[in-house]
Amino acid sequence: MEEAYKNAEELAVESGFEYYHFLDVSTIQLLPEVRQMCEANTCGKYGASWACPPACCSLEEGREKISHYRWGIVVQTVGQLEDSLDFEGIMEAEETHKEHFHDLMDKLREQFPGMLAMGAGTCTICAKCSYPDAPCRFPDRQISSVEAFGILVNDMVSKNGLKYNYGPNTIAYTSCCLLG
Ligand code: SF4
Repeated sequence: MEEAYKNAEELAVESGFEYYHFLDVSTIQLLPEVRQMCEANTCGKYGASWACPPACCSLEEGREKISHYRWGIVVQTVGQLEDSLDFEGIMEAEETHKEHFHDLMDKLREQFPGMLAMGAGTCTICAKCSYPDAPCRFPDRQISSVEAFGILVNDMVSKNGLKYNYGPNTIAYTSCCLLG
């Protein structure tokens, strides 16, 4: 496992990540409270994507999926903002994170074809999700968010060597891949 993780870490660096850590899957908790936050639909994606609740999976189905893994890698992008209203900076950091994460997933998939990826925010592979009129266009590539599984990002990163808050005028995006 150690060597396989080191290899995943090297790929994370190659993909542009500065923040990454070993993910001990036994620390991950799937919480109904997080799913309730999805249901509040502040992001507008609840019931609007195959990768988001309720379509992605129930809490129990998520537990079942995760139960097949023991370890993975968690990666973060930390964006520096001019101030807390720097929306351009926020979007730029999100875009960079997604770009790096897609690159990492492509690399990891070659070595870990059965991996389970969880991203930051809803799946944006298609400009407009086909939900609910037609099946997902890329079922093997769709990415549900960490929160869609019911995971509190703060809890996951703090139990796995990373931070949730990197200080004033920063924003952190977090994704992970369960690998083995
Ligand atoms: S791959 Fe496309 S159709 Fe499938 S969940 Fe993502 S955005 Fe929706």
